[in-house]
Amino acid sequence: VHPLLEVKDLRVSFNTYAGEVQAVRGVSFHLNKGEVLAIVGESGCGKSVTAQTIMRLIPSPPSVIKGGSILFDGKTEITKISDKQMEKIRGSEMGMIFQDPMTSLNPTMTIGKQITEGLIKHQGMSQKAADARAVEILKLVGISNPEGRIRQYPHEFSGGMRQRVMIAIALACNPKLLIADEPTTALDVTIQAQIIDLMKKLSEETEASIIVITHDLGVVAEMAQRVVVMYAGQVAEQGTVDEIFYNPKHPYTWGLLRSVPRLDQPKDSDLVPIPGTPPDLFAPPKGCPFAARCPYAMNICVQENPAQTQLTETHSAACWLLHPDAPKVERPVEAGG
Ligand code: SF4
Ligand code: MG
Repeated sequence: VHPLLEVKDLRVSFNTYAGEVQAVRGVSFHLNKGEVLAIVGESGCGKSVTAQTIMRLIPSPPSVIKGGSILFDGKTEITKISDKQMEKIRGSEMGMIFQDPMTSLNPTMTIGKQITEGLIKHQGMSQKAADARAVEILKLVGISNPEGRIRQYPHEFSGGMRQRVMIAIALACNPKLLIADEPTTALDVTIQAQIIDLMKKLSEETEASIIVITHDLGVVAEMAQRVVVMYAGQVAEQGTVDEIFYNPKHPYTWGLLRSVPRLDQPKDSDLVPIPGTPPDLFAPPKGCPFAARCPYAMNICVQENPAQTQLTETHSAACWLLHPDAPKVERPVEAGG
């Protein structure tokens, strides 16, 4: 069986007045069928651009796919198909959930209309069948009285309920691929937990494979089976959730794990933010992009960008410390852990 999605050496730039921003610089990963994959990293690491490029949601110009391949379902090359073909795929095989449901829902259209529009347009459903599907899908995402709710407008829903509606819209067409970009970031903690539970349930009950884009490792641990860690437009490390949480090999991943609260820790205790800022993607460094912030940086690190080292069938990382001749460096022991 082929993976649902295969991204190979993807390069995406933005042309701006100030020059070319190399937002995604040779990213490769795949998504298996039925899997939840998390893409994590700080803001500006290229995770959202990668997701939006997969769905071709960034207008071109200003964005340009400079190279690489996005193979969907073993047959469709996303970087090559026409806008029209892409629109069809988006309405029937892919769904996207954004961070802020208020800006992605249309305030002047009823919830019912927003769910049924795509079904009628892209799947040729009758109004009646689409209405029935809208009610069914609202029920699935935990909205009570869906028959009445479909006639209401987004402002009549709370923040958490609006995110459920967004998820319903994304799921209505029975997509093979669901991409959720920071799906819980705009919500308060209790609602966050409910939305994560809902997405977990949906990943088990529907056939959809999910990519969740997040800076929150708590979301990763709760939802995902595998993780791609991105830094400065590149993949720093990828592996199963266990490999990334219990046997991380990249100093950036070490820093990321130290900079977030753990569930068993009181909030704000022993959090160590990673000092420094990511490199300027107008002029990315020729060496390892993390070198300026890395406590273990060596001469080679500023001279040459490390290639991916394959550690297990599922685990790889791009770091010179994994070179056989490199000094032995262990992940620092966690304070209190
Ligand atoms: Fe640090 Fe060098 Fe590894 Fe980059 S390649 S993460 S600078 S040790
Ligand atoms: Mg983002």
